[in-house]
Amino acid sequence: MSPRRLGDVHLRKQFPLMELGLENRSPLRDAHSANRLPQFVQAVFVDRDGTMGGTGRFIHPRDFDVYPFTREALANLRNEGFLLFALTNQYRISRGEATEEDFHREFEDLKLDGAYICPHDIDFPCNCKKPAPGMLLRAAEEHGLDLSRCVVIGDTGATDMLAAQAVGATKVLVKTGWGESSLGEYRHTWADVEPDYIAGDLLDAAKWVVEFSRQRGIWLGFIDTVKRGAFGIDDVKPLHQGLAPGLCHIVAAIAAKVPPDDWPLSPKMVVGARCDTTDHLDPGDYRDPGDPGDDCAPGRGHPVHFLVPLLVDGQETTFCFSFVLEGNRWFLRHIEAIVIPITHVPDLPATSFPDLPSATKDFMREEIAASERIRLWAFLKDRFGPGFATDWFKDGVGYALAARAWIPFLPPEQAFILYVCWEETRLRGGEAHLLELTSSSARISLKPQYLSVYGRATHLREQISAEDYEALWEAIWKDRAAHGGWQVEVKYETTGCTLFFTRPG
Ligand SMILES: [Mg+2]
Ligand SMILES: [Zn+2]
Repeated sequence: MSPRRLGDVHLRKQFPLMELGLENRSPLRDAHSANRLPQFVQAVFVDRDGTMGGTGRFIHPRDFDVYPFTREALANLRNEGFLLFALTNQYRISRGEATEEDFHREFEDLKLDGAYICPHDIDFPCNCKKPAPGMLLRAAEEHGLDLSRCVVIGDTGATDMLAAQAVGATKVLVKTGWGESSLGEYRHTWADVEPDYIAGDLLDAAKWVVEFSRQRGIWLGFIDTVKRGAFGIDDVKPLHQGLAPGLCHIVAAIAAKVPPDDWPLSPKMVVGARCDTTDHLDPGDYRDPGDPGDDCAPGRGHPVHFLVPLLVDGQETTFCFSFVLEGNRWFLRHIEAIVIPITHVPDLPATSFPDLPSATKDFMREEIAASERIRLWAFLKDRFGPGFATDWFKDGVGYALAARAWIPFLPPEQAFILYVCWEETRLRGGEAHLLELTSSSARISLKPQYLSVYGRATHLREQISAEDYEALWEAIWKDRAAHGGWQVEVKYETTGCTLFFTRPG
């Protein structure tokens, strides 16, 4: 396996990555905080009727039985350190059939940290009765919570899920109580909302929340590590060990362009398909000498991906940061800027597949071509020397011929210059400005894909130096120009180059 594409930041000469020195572990790094995994979830709000027990309808606390698994489920959540609150509508309180005190005693017995109870009658215009989010907002105020880091678990779509949705909390629907009918005959009452997870019951829900908080915590831990300047080679378990330094450089490069303080705290998260085999990877790449065995092999378990939109060099790019978890440690596995939008196998037979913007595809094609080109160049250089390798890529005869054949209406020298412009822009997706064209001189300011690929594709830098890459480019152009009737000089600029063509007038 030879991973061809890595992340996507301009790292060229203007970007002295090696000087950032982030590839090495900072001596200030606290060993105990290595890859620490903070909890994402701050608090969990649990509905009572139909979720903790009962039937979904009112049952007085003296007659209320929790489900057999409820105490275990609540304990699972409490053990993770989440605050635990009841979140319940009890309109019978307003009718004198029970008191708030009765309910509070019940919730204290369940060892909850508190309870938010709407006592108002069904028609009473309060802002606390679910689906109104009043109780959640009050809880946030009283406990300093970020509701986007809280979870609501309930059995009723039209109350529990809508209240959670209103404040951006994570939504878990349980199938007990009204759960099944919420998903069936009453689905229209909360049609626009999708639960983040549908659980069989509260215990299933609790297990999901525990895992969800760990997975989301990866991103918080990663940002924190980068912010402290503590991110290093020990924090990566790449797809291929050779990619480790490159990954560190990319993190450093992104952090230098977009401060981690500006990275979103809850980017879209995709939990990847379980990977039970590392057969396709180089054996030995993954095992530390002290590795007890397969259970610790990264690549096992579910990789967790975060899709993070960042504005880099004025261009919004979505980076996919992929991580693996080992016990309570996270490791960065990969960063990719181009993410093909395929997340599941389509219904078969399938004839249409998700597309990408054409500029993205232009870049990908050129990157693939560059990979093949440089792999061959490196091979030929090793076998037959640099001169031979470079000569192999001289295509001037065919290039000049193409210009004359495809633009037959102009003198060949002018056709050649215009063909250069056309090919670099329309065919390869680069940028060109034709600044001058006479019978004896021409000037093209160029942002060719050839050069931007080198800046953005880390793996190329491992195979060919910037100097050799540019020398190859120049050799190709001198050969093309010669066959087109010109001489050429290349002047490099920050993001491209200018080609100066001359010929005897
Ligand atoms: Mg309920
Ligand atoms: Zn109320």
